[in-house]
Amino acid sequence: MSGIPIQVQRCGKTFDDGTRALEPIDLEIAAGETIVLLGPSGCGKTTTLRIIAGLEAPDTGGRVLFDGTDVTPVPIEKRNVGMVFQSYALFPNMSVAENVEYGLKVRGMPAMQRAARVKEMLAMMHIEPLAQRRIDQLSGGQRQRVALARAIATRPRALLLDEPLTALDAKLRDSLRLEIDRLLRSLAITTVYVTHDQAEAMALGDRIAVMEHGRIAQIGSPQDIYSAPASSFVADFIGTMNRITGVVQGNALRFSGGVIALGPDAVGSTEIMFRPEDVRIVSPAAANFSGKVVSSFFLGDHTRLVIDTGDAQWVTVRAQQRTPFISGESVHCAIDPAAVLTLKS
Ligand code: ADP
Ligand code: MG
Repeated sequence: MSGIPIQVQRCGKTFDDGTRALEPIDLEIAAGETIVLLGPSGCGKTTTLRIIAGLEAPDTGGRVLFDGTDVTPVPIEKRNVGMVFQSYALFPNMSVAENVEYGLKVRGMPAMQRAARVKEMLAMMHIEPLAQRRIDQLSGGQRQRVALARAIATRPRALLLDEPLTALDAKLRDSLRLEIDRLLRSLAITTVYVTHDQAEAMALGDRIAVMEHGRIAQIGSPQDIYSAPASSFVADFIGTMNRITGVVQGNALRFSGGVIALGPDAVGSTEIMFRPEDVRIVSPAAANFSGKVVSSFFLGDHTRLVIDTGDAQWVTVRAQQRTPFISGESVHCAIDPAAVLTLKS
């Protein structure tokens, strides 16, 4: 199984009731790549996925190309894509094996070959012992494993996943996320993965397209998006971002908590951003800024501190210390100029 490149060209969608779900967007997905569409509810992720699948037609004269061929008029059953949804669309009255076999039967694959393929798929998803179970006898996580096995059984040209883990509890989500990661790497199939969960997006995406109000706000590797967010929307959506407003003082920014030195890219900015993990707790003499502890959460491998520097916004710090901080205690912080970000826009 291997992937094909997919191109989405100027695909937009307005529904009959006038809802503008998607502005005309462009996406270039490389063969074998996993691209994650990430964004809050209602931003157009599912609509984009359904256009790629052939369940929805773009109404802006846009096109979808599979391996360079225009498939815009081609219905879903002829696009040869595997799909998995948040709520498992499995056949409840069939066994696990029959569910996985279904698509192969429809395609007229001979029985011997079908049996071998089903066995291979169940092994791949570690659900061989469940082969004869009925769907209603399975847990949510097991059902999603079946849904994945069924989606890849026909060796589709692309795999389209719409929030496949959202309905599962946190622990199951983590283990199945690892499983999906392993699966996607071993199959090297072109995958579009929709989620509103940034941790999932960071873990699975070769690239992430962050969506906002029917537009792609930024597209890039997880590292790019995390370390150089293109807008405050993206910065806030991925991880925690501190924001400080102050006045320019030479190569630094002065604000109520102290003075933060800026790297060459940020000099002259009056609004800066930095991540909690880029702040170190230091002695007063080594500090760039200081404040008082508002709250301190011990999280096992680190402590999350919220600090009031006198600025309108509190600063969140990821402290390595495991000794507890006391509310109201003074803390002194240093930050490397290279870790200070500014928005380009
Ligand atoms: P997401 O998957 O990011 O939550 P969707 O693509 O499902 O977003 O929806 C984008 C917008 O389009 C939302 O405002 C949603 O309510 C609207 N929408 C989706 N499907 C329909 C539909 N069939 N008819 C009318 N509006 C729709
Ligand atoms: Mg959706």
